[in-house]
Amino acid sequence: MANYHPTPEMLTDFSAGNLQLGHALCVSAHVEHCDECKTNLQRLNSIATNLFDGLEPASLPDTLKNAVFSKLDDEHIEEPVREKTVSSHIPRALQQFISESYETLSWKKVSSMIQQAHLSTDVSGSKISLMRIQAGGKVPMHTHSGEEYTLLLEGSFSDESGLYNVGDFLVRDERHKHRPVVTKDRECICLTVTDAPVTLTGFFTRWFNPLLRRGHFSH
Ligand SMILES: [Zn+2]
Repeated sequence: MANYHPTPEMLTDFSAGNLQLGHALCVSAHVEHCDECKTNLQRLNSIATNLFDGLEPASLPDTLKNAVFSKLDDEHIEEPVREKTVSSHIPRALQQFISESYETLSWKKVSSMIQQAHLSTDVSGSKISLMRIQAGGKVPMHTHSGEEYTLLLEGSFSDESGLYNVGDFLVRDERHKHRPVVTKDRECICLTVTDAPVTLTGFFTRWFNPLLRRGHFSH
């Protein structure tokens, strides 16, 4: 059960299709875990449908209507494509990027404890990645010069503000300086969407930054 949720504004933007791909993926993957947000989203979607229903229909010329209907008649109805076997715990929203399991992604080492797999870059330039941190692993103290969205997919971690579990949805920006630590029982996998390089602020900055330049945080 998730304790950290997208804001109502984010959910509204998601419902209206106004979120960029990376943020939409985080919201969508969260909603799969969260009955509360699922219910709210269904409400928002039905409000939007009612608004459309209330609109006065625009009249179309018959020639256009006929052209559209005959095109529809011509459409070949495809057999439904049988879905590939994807691990059931991978959110449906991410299955377009992950063919079988997290294991089959091409993971790059960021440090001895951290690996990163790039999934996509959306039109706004945001990087969509998975981060995988070993059980008990620590991420060096860092802050963000832009926003970073995180959705926890496996395991749990904590920082100065709390403990986060599967399905939790976090947004961090330059106001947050934090040092996430993964719980000792199992590794942690997160979906992260960053729109600007992360700024490291701690002791490890000097040796860690060159590694990060090739990794998750600062392409
Ligand atoms: Zn929620």
